[in-house]
Amino acid sequence: MKETATEIGEIDSCKTDASAWNADLGRWIIAQLIDYSCCGAAAMIGWCLHGSNPSPAVQAGKIGMGLLSWRLLLCMTLSAVLSIALIYVRELIHFWFLGSLVPRSKQNSKQLTKMDIMFVLQTAIVSICTFCIIEYHGLTYTETNKFGNGSNFVWFLVAEVYLPFYTLLVLRDVVFLWPFHQLLHTKYFYHLHKTHHSIGKDAQGMHAFYIDIFDLLIENAGAPALLLAFQYFSGIEVGFHLLVPYLLSFHDGALHSVSPYSAMYFCPILDYVLKPTIHHQLHHAIPRNKDYLLFVPYRHLIPRHRQADIAYFNKVFDTNFYSSEKQQTTQQGSPRCHNERNIVIAPSA
Ligand SMILES: [Zn+2]
Ligand SMILES: [Zn+2]
Repeated sequence: MKETATEIGEIDSCKTDASAWNADLGRWIIAQLIDYSCCGAAAMIGWCLHGSNPSPAVQAGKIGMGLLSWRLLLCMTLSAVLSIALIYVRELIHFWFLGSLVPRSKQNSKQLTKMDIMFVLQTAIVSICTFCIIEYHGLTYTETNKFGNGSNFVWFLVAEVYLPFYTLLVLRDVVFLWPFHQLLHTKYFYHLHKTHHSIGKDAQGMHAFYIDIFDLLIENAGAPALLLAFQYFSGIEVGFHLLVPYLLSFHDGALHSVSPYSAMYFCPILDYVLKPTIHHQLHHAIPRNKDYLLFVPYRHLIPRHRQADIAYFNKVFDTNFYSSEKQQTTQQGSPRCHNERNIVIAPSA
């Protein structure tokens, strides 16, 4: 749809200015350090635990129970518990670091409720069982350069960690979220998705786990299966490195984080340009708005769309991220962002 000059003017009125963008740079850098440290610690623990595990089918099968092995199950459970603990620690650090900057609607989310813990357990059990089966069959691995000649660690990171990580994010968006997340927001299927949306403006990192099993499988199981199938039918080595699911787990936690400075892609350029936390928080705050159904905010590559979302986030959550005092004053005049019009035309959830 072609934008009119009036619409562009409205978008411009929602802009955050360039100097304001840089004013948050310090907090953004510290947030990146927090996230890299926590994700790195979880990945290293997992790498050590699983690296010492002779894993796949042949050895594990000796003490196995068919599809799984007890040793693998123990190893996977231990690494999952430590990872989840680190995702929680990461979120607590962000609560502490942002202090009063945390939106008021999220201030009370710091303590986990019994329901939060129940959903963490449920999602963790499903994930542990799934990854046990995957690893048991040798579809995840811990050695470096399995696909290459073993000589270049940078190439390993690019080809075997970042490439499958980004591929899974895009596959999940394009093949599963784009058609199915829309369907889940129609009145016929919303009952399958409403548990995740019982979390609204109060979302925090651990609410990534707050999801029904069916919804979890629809949104998360398809992309890895598709990647493995593609590798199999392409005749290349089948599987992905164990670091990939760690990046995905921390990505999904950060998507719901109280910190809009969160590291999501573990690539400074992408994390500086794209603001998926802001994007997904708006989905939880206004689930009827169709602009926020995907996890990767591709339109943030265009600065005015990114700035419009930031301004809209600040208005919805009564915050001032990536913004200035001057901008906050301007916002009190409640400029209409283009997003607000989509709420009107979007079907009810
Ligand atoms: Zn969510
Ligand atoms: Zn949704």
